[in-house]
Amino acid sequence: MTDCIFCKLAAGELPTNKVYEDDEVFAFHDIHPVAPVHFLIIPKQHVDSLAHTDDSHQALLGRMLLLAPRLAAQLGLEQGFRTIINTGHGGGQTFFHLHLHVIGGAPLSPNIVELSTH
Ligand code: AMP
Ligand code: ZN
Repeated sequence: MTDCIFCKLAAGELPTNKVYEDDEVFAFHDIHPVAPVHFLIIPKQHVDSLAHTDDSHQALLGRMLLLAPRLAAQLGLEQGFRTIINTGHGGGQTFFHLHLHVIGGAPLSPNIVELSTH
């Protein structure tokens, strides 16, 4: 996807604060963090959203999910963290390249559902 910002971040074509990279996955700090630690794990391959995955993405999704606790620990989130994947407009997704939010470093409310006011 030529006009996808996350594709460009993963390809090193735009600057970002990188957390991790391998042949399939890229992780970087969110530009608007909602907690002291807030980073995103994305596939290097463009996938619009979680709703656009199928059996061929099984290993990739597993790799992204397994990375979350490993990278969280590296960033000091031993007490825990929250993972979120917003999917589609109804799920609050604003950047349409699949990404897993990893958030922590401050006490998080057990109520993960916050309805948007707009
Ligand atoms: P979502 O609403 O789940 O689609 O989340 C998109 C996230 O991407 C938001 O938390 C943004 O702050 C973050 N974001 C957008 N552009 C960038 C960027 N260039 N670098 C880092 N994070 C970004
Ligand atoms: Zn993309």
